[in-house]
Amino acid sequence: MKRGCTPRATRESKFGVGQEPADFRSVVGVPLEPDKGRAPVGRVACLQTKHRVPGPSAAPPYTGGMRLFPCDRFPLPLPDGHRFPIDKYALLRRRLEMHAAAGEPLEFIEPHAATDDELVRVHDRGYVGRVLSGTLSPGEVRRIGFPWSAALVERSLRSTGAAVDAAAAAIDDGIAASLAGGTHHAGTDWGEGYCVFNDTAVAARELQARGVVRQVLILDCDVHQGNGTAEIFSADPTVFTMSIHGARNFPVRKQPSSLDVPLDDGTGDDEYLRRLEPAVAESIERARADLVLYIAGADPYAGDRLGRLKLTKAGLVARDRLVLDAARGSGAAVALVCGGGYCPDLDAIVDIHAATITLAATYGAAP
Ligand SMILES: [Zn+2]
Repeated sequence: MKRGCTPRATRESKFGVGQEPADFRSVVGVPLEPDKGRAPVGRVACLQTKHRVPGPSAAPPYTGGMRLFPCDRFPLPLPDGHRFPIDKYALLRRRLEMHAAAGEPLEFIEPHAATDDELVRVHDRGYVGRVLSGTLSPGEVRRIGFPWSAALVERSLRSTGAAVDAAAAAIDDGIAASLAGGTHHAGTDWGEGYCVFNDTAVAARELQARGVVRQVLILDCDVHQGNGTAEIFSADPTVFTMSIHGARNFPVRKQPSSLDVPLDDGTGDDEYLRRLEPAVAESIERARADLVLYIAGADPYAGDRLGRLKLTKAGLVARDRLVLDAARGSGAAVALVCGGGYCPDLDAIVDIHAATITLAATYGAAP
């Protein structure tokens, strides 16, 4: 895919101040009445927060570097004792800003909130409407694992938008990354396992809809199987899905990807890399992709609370290098998303993601 074929407008929110779509309710079928003095819910609240002027950016004034799309300025309030390590995202951005201040070519850009049109290319309209309006059933909320709030909706829209923006930036620059996401458990009409919308699925379909890519490859190296992604693309030959994961990790009931590599508990660096290399080669050969979406999960790490694999930090860097060499070597653009990471030591999670991003930044030039 040649460079420069995507408008740079993707750097900015699609909806400028005063330009919010008037028909958002009809698009997603949210049964909302005009405001009658009640507190706004769902999309209404999101559209209001969307137009807040962001605070002064701490991002250094570098341009021309690898474009990164952080979401941590859109907080996700969680109850005390919630097990999701939400603080890792802000710590990761700060760590990478330090790298940028030291001269590494990294650029920080606020992602747009995924639009209704983008979401419904992947997700069931009824499900999207229930998320936006706060009318998910208690069972649906439990399955997601986060309490519903307007802030959760905004955060989910931004992290999905971040994957779209990273994919578009990758088409222009060769490589780019979302500093969130990897929400691969969300399927057509469900959210699950801390995943509300499936960010890489939405990015794949959006870039296809823009006409800038035809074939997409999703390389999922999170320790958990990409069941939602597999389900979404199960009958779509234009998107190839590969998942390498712990066989006994969540989800219990896995969906068949185009190529699955289930690994035993305790698999370490050598065996992991021995299994990964042919799987990536086969995926690239079969997918013939213009765009690779790489879910670079930190949860195969030996210190992870949920992951059952035993990779070291050095092993994860070797994983990243193997994937990036193969993907960029094929001529495809590469967009990265973070994926999971549940080590009690947040610095370890940040070390892993920061190593992935700083390595990826060296792959920016066209191959
Ligand atoms: Zn995971």
